[in-house]
Amino acid sequence: MSPSLSACAPTHVAVHNPCVAATVFEAAQGMMVTDARGRIVRVNQAFVRITGYSSEEVVGQTPRLLSSGRHVPDFYAVMWAAIARDGIWEGEIWNRRKNGEVYPEHLSITAVRDDDGEITNYVAALTDITLSKAANDEIRSLAFYDPLTRLPNRRLLLDRLRQVLAASSQHDRYCALMFIDLDNFKTLNDTLGHNVGDLLLSQVAERLQSSLRKGDTVARLGGDEFVVLVEGLSSGALEAAAEVESLGAKILAALNRPYELGTHHCRSTPSIGATLFHNGEPPQPDDLLMQADIAMYQAKQAGRNGMRFFDRRMQDRISERAQLESDLRHAIECRQFALYYQVQVDQHGKARGAEALIRWIRSDGATVSPASFISLAEETGLILSIGSWVLETACAQLAAWQAAPGMAHLVLAINVSAQQFHQPDFGREVRMAVDRHGIDPRLLKLELTEGVLLDKIEDTIACMQELKAIGVRFSLDDFGTGYSSLQYLKRLPLSQLKIDQSFVRDLASDSSDQVIVRTIIAMARSLQLDVIAEGVETQAQRALLEELGCRRYQGYLYSRPVPEPQLRALITGWSDQPSASAGPKNS
Ligand code: C2E
Ligand code: CA
Ligand code: CA
Repeated sequence: MSPSLSACAPTHVAVHNPCVAATVFEAAQGMMVTDARGRIVRVNQAFVRITGYSSEEVVGQTPRLLSSGRHVPDFYAVMWAAIARDGIWEGEIWNRRKNGEVYPEHLSITAVRDDDGEITNYVAALTDITLSKAANDEIRSLAFYDPLTRLPNRRLLLDRLRQVLAASSQHDRYCALMFIDLDNFKTLNDTLGHNVGDLLLSQVAERLQSSLRKGDTVARLGGDEFVVLVEGLSSGALEAAAEVESLGAKILAALNRPYELGTHHCRSTPSIGATLFHNGEPPQPDDLLMQADIAMYQAKQAGRNGMRFFDRRMQDRISERAQLESDLRHAIECRQFALYYQVQVDQHGKARGAEALIRWIRSDGATVSPASFISLAEETGLILSIGSWVLETACAQLAAWQAAPGMAHLVLAINVSAQQFHQPDFGREVRMAVDRHGIDPRLLKLELTEGVLLDKIEDTIACMQELKAIGVRFSLDDFGTGYSSLQYLKRLPLSQLKIDQSFVRDLASDSSDQVIVRTIIAMARSLQLDVIAEGVETQAQRALLEELGCRRYQGYLYSRPVPEPQLRALITGWSDQPSASAGPKNS
């Protein structure tokens, strides 16, 4: 072996060890040596294996014999220029085997010079990367395509959307993004199994593809969510909307046709949200997806199996909610809450207790009513920390009243929301709060609504009994607005029914409300429960309630919900007046 050959072995084997050099030359890597004019003088076994040419067939030829025809002439010119300049070139290249197959290889070419710096040979080391190329393609396909339906995935869709947005700023045609969600997929998946679910998704994918024109994109975002991207609509907004409308109708019809899923015959419907875009607006793909998603949600709200266009007012409402949610989180962190107290009185006008009603005191001092944030707090789970804070604060207040003249007998009612009550350790949380503050548990009353009680009734009864055992009481709030049957009310360890204020409001003028109130009171009596009426605003209402048999009242007639010092002033003021038993005047 000539020194020049071993000098170029890829592992930099020492020149003086021809034996090792020869071994390397017969390694897995294909090797080809040419003379200075580019004629092949030697190849190894791996070269023979990779290219399919025998040594005899190639020696004396030039490597052009291997060329695939896939590269432009410039490609080779750049390559040879690099070798002339740097002495080496390395890269990926397409070559052709003897059997005609074109394959990818990793190639490095090194120029070998003699002592005078003259090029004597070129040595090429080549590795067949067909396999790793396939693996790469597979990785690419996993990265950009959904394996089940072979549709583009979210990533590729976002990519495509970016391109379309950029291109759309160059012309005035509308484009549209449609968000498609199947209405009953989860049920189908749960009842018939995932295999059937997968079959449905594949067929939906096919039907979507065949509903579209070439050039439109349909992607699967995951689950049962598909997105269609349509370009080249009219340049007038109304015409473009009409085009999308008719495409939507086509998709609805296609997806409404019955499905044969293995042995199952099924029906499925989609809800579609569409948004139009124009001149690269909005610039962010995520905003577009969100708009289409909002519209889809509206389609669901409107009864499903239909299509809705994105509506900006809806987005404003959603943004407001998101703002309220983040403000609420901040309020929880910064403890921007206060409890107000509304007195509850008996038929003699004596204060018997109070209901704690939460207020959110914003940093500018504005007071926010719970009516505007409790439902959001429930949906977001924030009610749990709010509820714990209320319980804690109420217990602390009860403890403080023990030492305050004229306040120690008051029963304090707090509102407990469904999520809070159904936490597995709610009973324990209440007991611990009671213990921590050393209060008499009989002074604590929990107001629950019928909705809370109807859910998981056995657990509910168990939790109520656990707390009743230590003396905590329960009042059924907003009573009469739900569907409580006597049957199940009997099973609940309640101590009070609270007549909803809607029946109190028109009590004097509406005889059917009088009938309802009378019935509630009769029901309470047979169940041996107290009754309290809320929302009592006038003496006339109070008098009627008393006549019907209700002996406890709460409402603006006595006091609005007020901060604790005012409640204290009110109650101690009453007990100082000998005439208090007549009840306060209408204010
Ligand atoms: P609710 O438990 O039915 O509370 C009674 C609501 O009626 C209170 O509204 C109270 O201010 C109002 N009210 C009292 N007397 C009268 C009256 O004579 N006339 C009229 N028109 N209204 C009267 P608020 O304080 O805005 O609370 C609204 C709702 O927010 C409550 O209804 C309750 O469901 C919820 N809430 C209040 N505080 C809490 C709390 O700490 N935790 C939970 N989970 N919910 C709470
Ligand atoms: Ca209440
Ligand atoms: Ca109520």
